[in-house]
Amino acid sequence: MLVQQNYHNFPWIYKKNCLYLGMIKKYPKQFKKVSDYLKEKFGIDVLLGQITAFMGHKNKKIFIHHNHNLEKNGLYSLLHEVGHALQTDKDNYFKTIDEDKEPKKFKFYQYINEINAWEKGLLFANELGIKVNIEDWVKVQNESLHTYSKKL
Ligand SMILES: [Zn+2]
Repeated sequence: MLVQQNYHNFPWIYKKNCLYLGMIKKYPKQFKKVSDYLKEKFGIDVLLGQITAFMGHKNKKIFIHHNHNLEKNGLYSLLHEVGHALQTDKDNYFKTIDEDKEPKKFKFYQYINEINAWEKGLLFANELGIKVNIEDWVKVQNESLHTYSKKL
């Protein structure tokens, strides 16, 4: 999931997630490795919340849903959100499209953007030496992509 960078537009996200700050779990090894890297390299904090999203380079936060298994789908979701954090303006082309005026074009390029974030996340995992079970990865990826593709 990708949320608009300026989440002051979404006070409910901010409020709900603040309530969750007190229940941060001890992160499993691989999950911690990724979140430590994000903090060190980009100053991005990884937090548990009620959504899964990268909040943008200004806000420097990635939320992972607290229900996720942080060794499996939570780790893969985190790597996907890292993929979003690594995206360029070119990758984020859909953000320049007016969704109200050109909904089909917007959704198509948003879908392309999602695929790109999964690819970048997998490359990142390889570079950082994070072990990924590719079958599980594809399953999580396809479930996520489906929520976008059915809107096309
Ligand atoms: Zn995404």
